[in-house]
Amino acid sequence: MKLRFLGTGTSFGIPVIGCDCGTCTSSDPRDRRMRHGALVEEDGRRLLVDTPPELRLQLVAARVSSVDAIWFTHCHADHIHGLDDVRVFSEHSRCDMQVYASPECTATLRERFAYIFDTRIRPLAGTSKPEARLTTVHEYQPVQIAGFDVLPLPVPHGLMEVYGFRIGALGYITDGKSLPPRTLEALRGVRVLVLNALWFGRPHPTHFSVEEAVEAARAVGAERTYLTHMSHRVSHAELNARLPEGVYAAYDGLEVEV
Ligand SMILES: [Zn+2]
Ligand SMILES: [Zn+2]
Ligand SMILES: [Zn+2]
Repeated sequence: MKLRFLGTGTSFGIPVIGCDCGTCTSSDPRDRRMRHGALVEEDGRRLLVDTPPELRLQLVAARVSSVDAIWFTHCHADHIHGLDDVRVFSEHSRCDMQVYASPECTATLRERFAYIFDTRIRPLAGTSKPEARLTTVHEYQPVQIAGFDVLPLPVPHGLMEVYGFRIGALGYITDGKSLPPRTLEALRGVRVLVLNALWFGRPHPTHFSVEEAVEAARAVGAERTYLTHMSHRVSHAELNARLPEGVYAAYDGLEVEV
C-alpha cells in the first residue's frame, strides 16, 4: 500500500496570501503546502482523502487518472471545497463517485453541495456535474471501501468531530486535538502513522501543536510518524532539525510505502 501526501498545509495554504515570512518566501519546494489531501493506493485502487481547493492541481501533479472513492475527514472548507473537481471521474467512468463521511459531515455535504447530492437536480443536456453517492460511516464500525478495510477513528476538533481512519498498518489522523482512549487503542500496532501538527509552542484550541503531536506519536508507537496540516510558522528545515527520531515532516508530493 502506498500513501501519497497531496497537500500538507493548514487552512490558509502556504505561501499565505500577502505574507513575507521565512516559510512563505522560502525557496525550498517542501515549504509550499497546499490544503489538506492524501491518496491511499493499492493494486491500482485509489482512496482519496478529502477534496481541498487545490485538488485539481494535486491530482494533475500526481498523474492520477482514476479515483475509486473519497473519504471525508470532516467538513471544514479547506477539506471539501475542491469537490467539484471530481466531476472528471464520474464523466469518464459514467458511474457515481463513492463518497464516505461521518453522519455530521454527510449532512453538511448534502446542504453545501445540493447540486451534487440532490438527485432531483439534473444538469442541462450537453453539460455535466459531479455524480456521486454519499454513504454515512460510523465511528469504530469497520467498512469496506474500494477493497480497503477502513476503520473510522473519531478525534475531537473543537465543536466538530473528525474521522481519521486505520487501514491495515496505516493510521491516519488529521485536524485532531487529542487521541481519545478508544482511538489510541485502535491505532496500536500501525507501522505508519500520520498526525496533524500546527506549530511549535503555543497550544491551539482545535489542533495539535508539534509538541502535542510528538507526544501522541510516542503514545501510539508507530515505526514512522509523518506530520501534516502544518502552518507557515514552521519551515520544513526547522521541523526536520527539531523532530525526534521516527517523526518526520511530510510535504506535498511525498510518497510513503506502508
Ligand atoms: Zn483543516
Ligand atoms: Zn508566512
Ligand atoms: Zn478542520
